[in-house]
Amino acid sequence: MEVTIVGAGLVGCLLACFLARRNHHVTLYERRPDPRQEGADRGRSINLAISERGIDALRRLGLDGKVLDAAIPMPGRMMHAPDGALTFQPYSADRSHAINSIGRADLNRELLDAATALPGVEVRFGHRLTGLDERTGRLEFEHGKTETARVVIGADGAYSAVRARLQQLPGVSFRQDYLDYGYKELTIPARNGAFAMDPGALHIWPRGRSMMIALPNPDRSFTCTLFWPHETLAALDGPQRVRAYFAEHYPDAFELMPDLIPAYRDNPVGHLVTMHCSPWHVTTESTTGSTTVGLVGDAAHAIVPFYGQGANCGFEDCVELDRCLDQAGDDFPKALELFERRKADTDVIARLALDNFVEMRDKVGSRMFLAGKRVEHA
Ligand code: FAD
Repeated sequence: MEVTIVGAGLVGCLLACFLARRNHHVTLYERRPDPRQEGADRGRSINLAISERGIDALRRLGLDGKVLDAAIPMPGRMMHAPDGALTFQPYSADRSHAINSIGRADLNRELLDAATALPGVEVRFGHRLTGLDERTGRLEFEHGKTETARVVIGADGAYSAVRARLQQLPGVSFRQDYLDYGYKELTIPARNGAFAMDPGALHIWPRGRSMMIALPNPDRSFTCTLFWPHETLAALDGPQRVRAYFAEHYPDAFELMPDLIPAYRDNPVGHLVTMHCSPWHVTTESTTGSTTVGLVGDAAHAIVPFYGQGANCGFEDCVELDRCLDQAGDDFPKALELFERRKADTDVIARLALDNFVEMRDKVGSRMFLAGKRVEHA
């Protein structure tokens, strides 16, 4: 079967691998240029916590070893109190149970390599989808190119163009919920060639209404992410205010951020959104056969990042869709119909992710202060 996937991000590439294993021919259309080419825009430096849910999907394709080799295990979280006191909270009694820090761009390149190494997978970069007719399967791309496909799967992220078309159809419900918070990335560089903090932890600075987190990178830096109310982000509108705020609320991190001022000024503010869409697929029958359009990954169910599960859930989508194809004998309309059963699970993780923001920014902190424990990292 010829399958078209829109979006060669994390989930689109992994799904291509699963489908190629089933002997389908997959064409991926990606709006960006090939990120593996020299000089390609590397985008934001987001790093992700990949956990067992995602590793399980990678393992089924033999991709777990290579991905985990490039990852840094984080067996617990390190809480940073305002006075600099550190408290390590293990995720499990067994320290081999860890979540893993990995750069999103590196993981994407790895999955692109895996997909394009398989027979029957082709990626067409520089193809931004701008229009879709779900009845005929006609896809329109920027610069006037068109294609047709019987099976179209939107893996084109939270602001999916495929979903934008489905949203216009009667019977398709859609809702987007924005938080009043934005996120901004900063960096703690390596110090004298070494990690400036313990790399074996996800670092959290819980500050009641807001927080900062930091995940380690293979180059011994940390990518920090502020999750702050929009008004706080906007209020720090000059170097003095930024310095004073960090010195007061994040004194230990402040000392480790030599580029804080330009990074705070130049790095964009990202939005935090939950997308709800139902159903995730539409099939149109005609005299010449059926055309099916479906959604996976963030295109189907983008969630806020506080449970570190967006990509993990997208990977699990691929496993579940593969299972549905088994059950449906590779009939895509039937498989995508079965795949709708997954919505109950993704609705739950969307709620848990929102709840965990309160847990991370507030509750873990109050517990830490009540316990009054101090742990120094090595
Ligand atoms: P995307 O990664 O968004 O990929 C979509 C692809 O489609 C992109 O390549 C894009 O260029 C392409 N595209 C978009 N529009 C078009 C178009 N019109 N035509 C053609 N191509 C198009 N998840 C975790 O599991 N763990 C974490 O720790 C974690 N932390 C996060 C931290 C932050 C700050 C954020 C914002 C997210 C985090 N996530 C995390 C979520 C994770 O990044 C997403 O869930 C994941 O990237 C979704 O993958 P995707 O392939 O569905 O979408």
